[in-house]
Amino acid sequence: MRYLFLCVAMCFALSAYAQEASVQEAADSTKRDSVAVKERPAPIKPVRTLGEVAVIDTLPTASELISIVLFNDNTWRYVISEDYKNDTEVFSDHWDTDATHAYKDVELSSFPDATPIRLVDSLEGYHYPYIGRITSRYGPRRGRSHQGIDIALKMGDPIYATFDGRVRFSKAAGNYGNLIVIRHNNGLETYYAHLSQRDVEAGDWVVAGQQIGLGGSTGRSTGPHLHYEVRYRGQSFDPERIVDFKTGELRREELLLKRTHFSIYSKFEQDFDDEVEVAKQEEAERKAAAAVQYHTIRSGDTLGALARKYGTTVTRLCQLNGIKSTSILRIGQRLRVR
Ligand SMILES: [Zn+2]
Repeated sequence: MRYLFLCVAMCFALSAYAQEASVQEAADSTKRDSVAVKERPAPIKPVRTLGEVAVIDTLPTASELISIVLFNDNTWRYVISEDYKNDTEVFSDHWDTDATHAYKDVELSSFPDATPIRLVDSLEGYHYPYIGRITSRYGPRRGRSHQGIDIALKMGDPIYATFDGRVRFSKAAGNYGNLIVIRHNNGLETYYAHLSQRDVEAGDWVVAGQQIGLGGSTGRSTGPHLHYEVRYRGQSFDPERIVDFKTGELRREELLLKRTHFSIYSKFEQDFDDEVEVAKQEEAERKAAAAVQYHTIRSGDTLGALARKYGTTVTRLCQLNGIKSTSILRIGQRLRVR
């Protein structure tokens, strides 16, 4: 009986050990997975959707500049006070509620090589403007520059503010149709065009995810779509650098905005390595071009003498100029020697 008990106890211990080992194994494989995942940071989910959510209270914090806003779905977030925002230069410098573009006098050449832009932090929310099929990307289009992105929509679908900010422009504006421009705390401006309805006016403060209007087809438009632009100090760049319009997710928390990104040919798909590679190649081509040298044939010049003079060979001279070593040189002829 005692043996039987011992045996049962041992079996139990063994199976417990085996179980523990498999748990350990599982933990190891999870660890491996998480290491693999870490190499590629996950995209950022929309912080909140305000569709059915309403503000129920605002609470002060130790800082006068920051309050806590409570929502009726038991969530909350920090909000920077509007007085503080009023004091920052972002909402006063080049603030024009009548012009679609407020930074006309700002030259691209005055920009630094790269500007870091914080897209979200604990105080700043994010929400996609609209999720849908992209019908036209950022870039050259039929001889013109398409400075934004077109997303097909159903007439009357709600359009949302991308980040917190203040409405700088809300009017009908020629080709843009009904246009809303929001300036954000980080200095970016987002443009929402062809709207069928505008729900906010210039000067209104908005939060990320707030409905600002309805999608439409006003202005120069062949069908209902959202034309969406992102600009920094008046210069547009590919909105897909920020937003994944398929999933609605924010691509990154911080954006390093390079001056080269403002080129109409600059697409988000080119990652950094690519750009470094292109820059290197361009530098090599520039050096090669700079190294090219010509000699104008004078009386008495021979291929052998030129090869000695420029430290090269007759064969190389013939290659560079597509001639034979027996070719007759004419006075005044330009030969490439390097
Ligand atoms: Zn467009």
